[in-house]
Amino acid sequence: YTQAKALVYSKYGEPKDVLSLHKHSISAPHGTQVNLRLLTAPMNPADVNQIQGVYPSKPPFQTLLGTPNPSAVGGNEGAFEVIATGANVKTLAKGDWVIMRQTGQGTWRTHAQLDESQLIRIENKDGLTPLQVGTVSVNPVTAYRMIRDFCEWDWMRAGEEWMIQNGANSGVGRAAIQLCREWGIKSLNVVRERKTHEETEALKKELKELGATAVVTEEEMMTTGFKDTVAQLTRQGREPIRLALNCVGGKNATAMAKTLAPDSHMVTYGAMSKQPVALPSGLLIFKNLSFDGFWVSRWGDKNPVLKESTIKDVLQMTRAGRFKDIPVDEVQWKWNTEGPQLAEAVQGTLGGYRSGKGVFTF
Ligand code: NDP
Repeated sequence: YTQAKALVYSKYGEPKDVLSLHKHSISAPHGTQVNLRLLTAPMNPADVNQIQGVYPSKPPFQTLLGTPNPSAVGGNEGAFEVIATGANVKTLAKGDWVIMRQTGQGTWRTHAQLDESQLIRIENKDGLTPLQVGTVSVNPVTAYRMIRDFCEWDWMRAGEEWMIQNGANSGVGRAAIQLCREWGIKSLNVVRERKTHEETEALKKELKELGATAVVTEEEMMTTGFKDTVAQLTRQGREPIRLALNCVGGKNATAMAKTLAPDSHMVTYGAMSKQPVALPSGLLIFKNLSFDGFWVSRWGDKNPVLKESTIKDVLQMTRAGRFKDIPVDEVQWKWNTEGPQLAEAVQGTLGGYRSGKGVFTF
């Protein structure tokens, strides 16, 4: 038996109110079962929405872990180490690093027992850190697929076409910046103004070092002069902005849509401002813009093979030093760490203006 602890919830609500730490034991693995130990698991915005009960995919409340009430384990992605394998496990061995094939399995737990078929083995883990592996399957995959699948880039014109995005300092945003740089797409990045001018400039610099072609604040985008800025950057539109990635909504999204060249796409994948996306009719009629949505969970379930190769591709870039880590706010989960402390860390996820994404390391 292995002793384990999991951060579980039995009803929906604010993480600090509904999350609790549950201790249980895990038996030796049978058949194709695999026992795992947590390395790193991030706290993503969707994880909190899921606990609040406002996210479309809701893991079922179950009694498998012996909780007093049926419960679900929080978290949707993470890196785990294999500590034991059942007799019929063929593709995994002790010491391997794995990630979960699908979201909704619950990753905020010190140990887990899953079936081999639910896991993706990380080949050649040397040169990778648990953080890189534990954050590869949601944000980078989302950025990668949105850039590749919604726009027919003219690869002959590498370096002469643009992507625009808001929330550019988010995990997805940082991945998008680096993928664009890698693929010869220019990126125009929108972030929210910081408290001081110095902090704003520091953030702009940081994103440029990642490969951003240009960085502007949301406030700058809302001014009338922004049209001229865009004209200048895009050489009067000779370098068209062909794709917009939107995780904010509201006026911010409308302003981005106005910068797009005719026949371009705007992909909405988040709604951080909680404001609806308003589409000026003229953009639909005269510019023939298309507005799409993307949800990586659904996409991954439909395209499991492509998901795995996308992950492989990003990890390959990471090993080669061409894909940098996101800034993180690490929460050390030790065996004796108390539940409220872990729940408090989760609570901060939707706060905004954070210096880094919260991650549990065990
Ligand atoms: P991070 O936790 O890394 O970053 C959060 C981002 O949201 C920051 O850029 C932050 O900007 C911004 N933000 C927070 N509050 C607001 C607000 N009120 N108005 C505008 N911006 C705000 O996020 P992720 O990269 O993990 O996720 C980013 C978004 O993408 C989320 O909405 C998430 O749900 C979504 N997502 C969607 C996926 C899909 O498949 N559809 C997959 C992955 C993520 P600041 O620093 O200025 O606060």
